[in-house]
Amino acid sequence: MQRAASKTEPVIASRIPLGLVGAEQGSAIPHSAPSAPHLIDQYGRVHTNLRVSVTDRCNLRCTYCMPEEVVFRDRSELLTFEEIARFVAVAAGLGVDKVRLTGGEPLVRKDLHRLVRMLVAVPGLSDLALTTNGVLLAEQAAALWDAGLRRLNVSLDTLDPGRFREISRRDGLDRVLAGLDAATRVGFTHIKVNAVALRGVTELDAVPLARFCRERGYELRFIESMPIGADPWDRSRALLADELLALLGREVAPLAPVAGVDPHAPAAEYEYADGGGRVGVIASVSRPFCAACNRLRLTAEGKVRNCLFALDEADAKPLLRRPEPDDAALADLLRRVVWAKWEGHEINSARFVKPDRTMHAIGG
Ligand code: SAM
Ligand code: SF4
Repeated sequence: MQRAASKTEPVIASRIPLGLVGAEQGSAIPHSAPSAPHLIDQYGRVHTNLRVSVTDRCNLRCTYCMPEEVVFRDRSELLTFEEIARFVAVAAGLGVDKVRLTGGEPLVRKDLHRLVRMLVAVPGLSDLALTTNGVLLAEQAAALWDAGLRRLNVSLDTLDPGRFREISRRDGLDRVLAGLDAATRVGFTHIKVNAVALRGVTELDAVPLARFCRERGYELRFIESMPIGADPWDRSRALLADELLALLGREVAPLAPVAGVDPHAPAAEYEYADGGGRVGVIASVSRPFCAACNRLRLTAEGKVRNCLFALDEADAKPLLRRPEPDDAALADLLRRVVWAKWEGHEINSARFVKPDRTMHAIGG
């Protein structure tokens, strides 16, 4: 069970779904939930999208994601690939059809391609994707492709080596660029490049990144900086989607919204009027998309979370490590966690309570 807001501060009722206050001491996760064939919450949102963190470790130390000094979990605490695959199979049986592997940095987990191969074989999954910082991609792109991975997001905030070092507290730009090249060489197409939009930083990088992505055929996606890193955060830290779109429209090429994209997709999509491809914005701060959210998360050590900003989570590991498999108990846990989801994250409200884990420890 996760903390309730903090040891001294009660959970603020408006962030708890109606009817669940006090369902379990200190937790908003109830003892039971309707036995639906799919994962539905009290607001009618059906959950089909699972983000799986495979490690909290990382070879970078991005300022918006983790503190400079960080203690990682012992490897023995992490779910094994077999445990992850079993969890995913149970979730797929409840209608989850999209899985994204993330972390920490997923490529620091040894032989990740083995997990990819296992997940590709899970019945019911139609979409498997990976988000990586790209530092180890050149070495692993071929194995990932051969294992069946077809969708790739590579995080890259800047094309300037010095700024890369400032943002990520490590060197590595050359390796990320080599990773992108290798991914294209082995067959990946429609690669997305993720950039966190930070006020006072991204204004300098947005246009060069946009030009780079247009030339190479990558889709650039800006993610408004969210209050989930170690640094103090307020709304003014985020460079907002509208400002970025205006900047690119002015400096790169006019942009127009793309109609008919998946209403559950967190990114709003825009197309360059000159045919130069697309840009996406994940505007969690300025345009929260909680009403259409269909995502849940599994942390590297087996906690199930119904929101990036959740204050409660449930532990799947004891169920996964029982001597006798009990998939019905896992399915019940999934239903209960999803049922308990709140209406929205309230980033923009004074009621917002920051989770006590930073992004790398949850899974981005
Ligand atoms: N290490 C991998 C990477 O960087 O792509 C995967 C994990 S990372 C936590 C997943 C995504 O979350 C990255 O695109 C990263 O830029 C983004 N991210 C991390 N901290 C963030 C924050 N505070 N606000 C918005 N996005 C963030
Ligand atoms: Fe590592 Fe990704 Fe977090 Fe950067 S954003 S520190 S690469 S997990």
